Amino acid sequence: MRYRSKIVSGSTADTYERRLNILYPIYKNTEIKQKKIEKENHIALPISRTIICQDNVSSLWTRLFTNEPSIFEKNSCPTRNCKGNNIINITNFPINYATVIKYGFSSLQKAVEFDSVIYNMPCKYCHGKKRTRRQKPNVYIYIELDVKTPEETMGRKCKLRDLQTYLTLPVIDEDDNVHHFRYRLSGVAGYTNNHYIAYCRRLSGAWISYDDTTKKPNSEVSSCEVLPHGKFKD
Ligand SMILES: [Zn+2]
Repeated sequence: MRYRSKIVSGSTADTYERRLNILYPIYKNTEIKQKKIEKENHIALPISRTIICQDNVSSLWTRLFTNEPSIFEKNSCPTRNCKGNNIINITNFPINYATVIKYGFSSLQKAVEFDSVIYNMPCKYCHGKKRTRRQKPNVYIYIELDVKTPEETMGRKCKLRDLQTYLTLPVIDEDDNVHHFRYRLSGVAGYTNNHYIAYCRRLSGAWISYDDTTKKPNSEVSSCEVLPHGKFKD
Protein backbone atom coordinates (compact mmCIF):
# COMPACT_ATOMS: atom_id res chain seq x y z
CA MET A 1 0.00 0.00 0.00
CA ARG A 2 2.85 2.36 0.75
CA TYR A 3 4.19 1.69 -2.72
CA ARG A 4 0.80 2.47 -4.25
CA SER A 5 0.40 5.73 -2.38
CA LYS A 6 3.78 6.76 -3.79
CA ILE A 7 2.97 6.04 -7.41
CA VAL A 8 -0.32 7.92 -7.39
CA SER A 9 1.55 11.07 -6.49
CA GLY A 10 3.71 10.89 -9.65
CA SER A 11 6.65 8.90 -10.97
CA THR A 12 10.23 9.40 -9.75
CA ALA A 13 13.54 7.55 -10.11
CA ASP A 14 12.73 6.01 -6.73
CA THR A 15 9.44 4.65 -8.15
CA TYR A 16 11.31 2.83 -10.92
CA GLU A 17 13.92 1.48 -8.51
CA ARG A 18 11.18 0.08 -6.27
CA ARG A 19 9.39 -1.36 -9.29
CA LEU A 20 12.59 -3.07 -10.43
CA ASN A 21 13.13 -4.54 -6.96
CA ILE A 22 9.65 -6.09 -7.06
CA LEU A 23 9.82 -7.39 -10.63
CA TYR A 24 13.45 -8.49 -10.93
CA PRO A 25 13.13 -11.64 -8.76
CA ILE A 26 10.10 -12.69 -10.85
CA TYR A 27 11.89 -12.17 -14.16
CA LYS A 28 15.35 -13.41 -13.12
CA ASN A 29 14.81 -17.03 -14.11
CA THR A 30 13.54 -16.34 -17.60
CA GLU A 31 15.70 -13.45 -18.80
CA ILE A 32 18.16 -13.82 -21.66
CA LYS A 33 21.61 -14.79 -20.43
CA GLN A 34 25.03 -15.13 -21.99
CA LYS A 35 25.94 -18.62 -23.17
CA LYS A 36 28.10 -20.59 -20.80
CA ILE A 37 31.72 -20.29 -21.92
CA GLU A 38 33.65 -23.55 -21.60
CA LYS A 39 37.23 -23.82 -22.82
CA GLU A 40 40.19 -25.82 -21.57
CA ASN A 41 40.76 -25.03 -17.89
CA HIS A 42 38.42 -22.12 -18.20
CA ILE A 43 34.75 -22.05 -17.27
CA ALA A 44 33.02 -18.69 -17.16
CA LEU A 45 29.69 -18.39 -15.45
CA PRO A 46 27.00 -16.59 -17.42
CA ILE A 47 26.04 -13.17 -16.11
CA SER A 48 23.17 -11.05 -17.24
CA ARG A 49 24.06 -7.38 -17.50
CA THR A 50 20.90 -6.05 -19.09
CA ILE A 51 17.41 -5.94 -17.70
CA ILE A 52 14.79 -4.65 -20.07
CA CYS A 53 12.17 -3.05 -17.84
CA GLN A 54 9.47 -3.19 -20.48
CA ASP A 55 7.02 -5.97 -21.15
CA ASN A 56 3.50 -6.68 -22.30
CA VAL A 57 0.99 -6.51 -19.45
CA SER A 58 -0.34 -9.99 -20.30
CA SER A 59 3.14 -11.49 -20.03
CA LEU A 60 3.52 -9.84 -16.62
CA TRP A 61 0.04 -11.02 -15.64
CA THR A 62 0.90 -14.61 -16.59
CA ARG A 63 4.01 -14.51 -14.38
CA LEU A 64 2.39 -12.82 -11.39
CA PHE A 65 -0.93 -14.66 -11.30
CA THR A 66 0.09 -18.27 -12.02
CA ASN A 67 -1.59 -19.31 -8.76
CA GLU A 68 -4.65 -17.10 -9.28
CA PRO A 69 -5.53 -17.96 -12.88
CA SER A 70 -8.67 -17.12 -14.86
CA ILE A 71 -9.53 -20.82 -15.19
CA PHE A 72 -8.77 -23.98 -13.22
CA GLU A 73 -8.70 -26.91 -15.63
CA LYS A 74 -9.13 -30.44 -14.28
CA ASN A 75 -8.28 -33.32 -16.60
CA SER A 76 -9.38 -36.89 -15.89
CA CYS A 77 -8.09 -39.79 -17.96
CA PRO A 78 -9.39 -43.30 -17.16
CA THR A 79 -6.06 -44.97 -18.09
CA ARG A 80 -4.45 -46.28 -14.91
CA ASN A 81 -1.61 -44.09 -13.51
CA CYS A 82 -1.85 -41.74 -16.51
CA LYS A 83 -0.19 -38.33 -16.11
CA GLY A 84 -3.19 -36.95 -17.94
CA ASN A 85 -4.94 -36.73 -14.55
CA ASN A 86 -3.88 -33.24 -13.65
CA ILE A 87 -4.94 -29.70 -12.82
CA ILE A 88 -3.72 -26.86 -15.02
CA ASN A 89 -3.96 -23.14 -14.22
CA ILE A 90 -4.89 -20.99 -17.21
CA THR A 91 -4.04 -17.34 -16.62
CA ASN A 92 -5.48 -15.72 -19.76
CA PHE A 93 -9.15 -16.36 -20.47
CA PRO A 94 -9.51 -17.74 -24.03
CA ILE A 95 -11.44 -15.74 -26.60
CA ASN A 96 -11.67 -15.90 -30.38
CA TYR A 97 -9.73 -12.89 -31.69
CA ALA A 98 -11.09 -13.29 -35.25
CA THR A 99 -14.59 -12.66 -33.81
CA VAL A 100 -13.40 -9.52 -32.02
CA ILE A 101 -11.73 -8.27 -35.22
CA LYS A 102 -14.91 -8.93 -37.20
CA TYR A 103 -17.53 -7.63 -34.75
CA GLY A 104 -15.58 -5.28 -32.47
CA PHE A 105 -14.98 -5.14 -28.72
CA SER A 106 -18.71 -5.06 -27.96
CA SER A 107 -18.87 -8.69 -29.19
CA LEU A 108 -16.84 -10.15 -26.32
CA GLN A 109 -19.65 -12.48 -25.19
CA LYS A 110 -19.84 -13.91 -28.70
CA ALA A 111 -16.04 -14.27 -28.81
CA VAL A 112 -15.79 -16.31 -25.59
CA GLU A 113 -14.28 -19.75 -26.19
CA PHE A 114 -15.34 -21.56 -23.06
CA ASP A 115 -16.72 -25.09 -22.64
CA SER A 116 -16.95 -26.03 -19.02
CA VAL A 117 -16.85 -29.77 -19.79
CA ILE A 118 -15.66 -31.74 -22.82
CA TYR A 119 -15.71 -35.55 -22.87
CA ASN A 120 -13.69 -38.00 -24.96
CA MET A 121 -10.75 -35.74 -25.64
CA PRO A 122 -7.39 -37.16 -26.75
CA CYS A 123 -4.83 -37.66 -23.99
CA LYS A 124 -1.30 -36.63 -24.95
CA TYR A 125 0.24 -38.88 -22.28
CA CYS A 126 -1.38 -42.29 -22.96
CA HIS A 127 -2.74 -41.45 -26.44
CA GLY A 128 -6.17 -42.65 -25.33
CA LYS A 129 -9.30 -40.76 -26.33
CA LYS A 130 -11.27 -40.79 -23.08
CA ARG A 131 -9.94 -37.71 -21.29
CA THR A 132 -12.57 -35.49 -19.65
CA ARG A 133 -11.65 -31.81 -19.45
CA ARG A 134 -13.49 -29.66 -16.90
CA GLN A 135 -12.90 -25.95 -16.66
CA LYS A 136 -14.01 -23.74 -13.79
CA PRO A 137 -13.55 -19.98 -14.00
CA ASN A 138 -12.04 -18.19 -11.01
CA VAL A 139 -13.77 -15.33 -9.15
CA TYR A 140 -12.16 -12.97 -11.65
CA ILE A 141 -11.02 -13.53 -15.21
CA TYR A 142 -8.36 -11.74 -17.25
CA ILE A 143 -8.73 -11.31 -21.00
CA GLU A 144 -5.92 -10.15 -23.25
CA LEU A 145 -7.30 -7.65 -25.75
CA ASP A 146 -4.24 -6.67 -27.76
CA VAL A 147 -6.12 -7.44 -30.97
CA LYS A 148 -4.63 -7.02 -34.44
CA THR A 149 -4.53 -8.76 -37.81
CA PRO A 150 -1.13 -9.96 -39.14
CA GLU A 151 -1.05 -6.88 -41.42
CA GLU A 152 -1.68 -4.42 -38.60
CA THR A 153 1.22 -3.09 -36.50
CA MET A 154 -0.94 -1.38 -33.88
CA GLY A 155 -3.61 -3.07 -31.77
CA ARG A 156 -7.27 -2.14 -32.21
CA LYS A 157 -8.52 0.83 -30.19
CA CYS A 158 -11.94 1.38 -28.67
CA LYS A 159 -13.77 3.68 -26.30
CA LEU A 160 -14.08 2.43 -22.73
CA ARG A 161 -17.86 2.84 -22.83
CA ASP A 162 -17.99 0.53 -25.89
CA LEU A 163 -16.54 -2.45 -24.00
CA GLN A 164 -19.08 -5.06 -22.97
CA THR A 165 -19.90 -4.56 -19.27
CA TYR A 166 -21.11 -8.05 -18.37
CA LEU A 167 -20.08 -11.51 -19.44
CA THR A 168 -21.98 -14.68 -18.53
CA LEU A 169 -20.38 -18.12 -18.50
CA PRO A 170 -22.41 -21.34 -18.19
CA VAL A 171 -20.54 -23.69 -15.86
CA ILE A 172 -21.56 -27.36 -15.50
CA ASP A 173 -20.51 -28.95 -12.22
CA GLU A 174 -19.61 -32.61 -11.67
CA ASP A 175 -23.27 -33.42 -10.86
CA ASP A 176 -24.33 -31.97 -14.24
CA ASN A 177 -25.97 -28.88 -12.68
CA VAL A 178 -25.62 -25.71 -14.74
CA HIS A 179 -24.60 -22.49 -12.98
CA HIS A 180 -24.33 -19.13 -14.70
CA PHE A 181 -21.25 -17.19 -13.60
CA ARG A 182 -21.68 -13.49 -14.26
CA TYR A 183 -18.67 -11.19 -14.57
CA ARG A 184 -18.59 -7.42 -14.38
CA LEU A 185 -16.00 -5.35 -16.20
CA SER A 186 -13.86 -3.84 -13.44
CA GLY A 187 -10.69 -2.64 -15.12
CA VAL A 188 -8.72 -2.15 -18.29
CA ALA A 189 -4.96 -1.84 -18.79
CA GLY A 190 -4.56 0.66 -21.64
CA TYR A 191 -1.33 1.03 -23.60
CA THR A 192 0.02 4.30 -24.97
CA ASN A 193 3.57 5.42 -25.96
CA ASN A 194 5.37 2.49 -24.27
CA HIS A 195 3.38 3.15 -21.12
CA TYR A 196 0.42 1.56 -19.33
CA ILE A 197 -2.51 3.43 -17.78
CA ALA A 198 -4.95 1.73 -15.41
CA TYR A 199 -8.65 2.39 -16.08
CA CYS A 200 -10.91 1.28 -13.22
CA ARG A 201 -14.63 0.90 -13.54
CA ARG A 202 -16.52 1.74 -10.35
CA LEU A 203 -19.66 -0.17 -9.25
CA SER A 204 -21.59 2.96 -10.33
CA GLY A 205 -20.27 2.44 -13.87
CA ALA A 206 -18.05 5.54 -13.70
CA TRP A 207 -14.51 5.21 -15.05
CA ILE A 208 -11.42 6.62 -13.40
CA SER A 209 -7.87 6.43 -14.73
CA TYR A 210 -4.57 6.12 -12.85
CA ASP A 211 -1.45 7.17 -14.70
CA ASP A 212 1.88 7.33 -12.86
CA THR A 213 3.10 10.16 -15.12
CA THR A 214 0.34 12.46 -13.89
CA LYS A 215 -0.22 13.72 -10.36
CA LYS A 216 -3.94 12.99 -10.02
CA PRO A 217 -6.41 10.29 -11.13
CA ASN A 218 -8.64 11.37 -14.00
CA SER A 219 -12.38 10.71 -14.02
CA GLU A 220 -13.22 12.17 -17.45
CA VAL A 221 -12.30 9.05 -19.36
CA SER A 222 -15.37 7.07 -20.46
CA SER A 223 -15.09 8.51 -23.98
CA CYS A 224 -11.29 8.01 -24.08
CA GLU A 225 -9.90 5.97 -26.93
CA VAL A 226 -7.73 3.23 -25.47
CA LEU A 227 -5.67 0.29 -26.61
CA PRO A 228 -7.31 -2.10 -24.17
CA HIS A 229 -6.41 -5.24 -22.29
CA GLY A 230 -9.60 -6.17 -20.42
CA LYS A 231 -10.28 -7.67 -17.04
CA PHE A 232 -13.65 -8.82 -15.75
CA LYS A 233 -14.57 -9.56 -12.18
CA ASP A 234 -17.36 -11.21 -10.21
ZN1 LIG B 1 -4.18 -40.64 -20.47
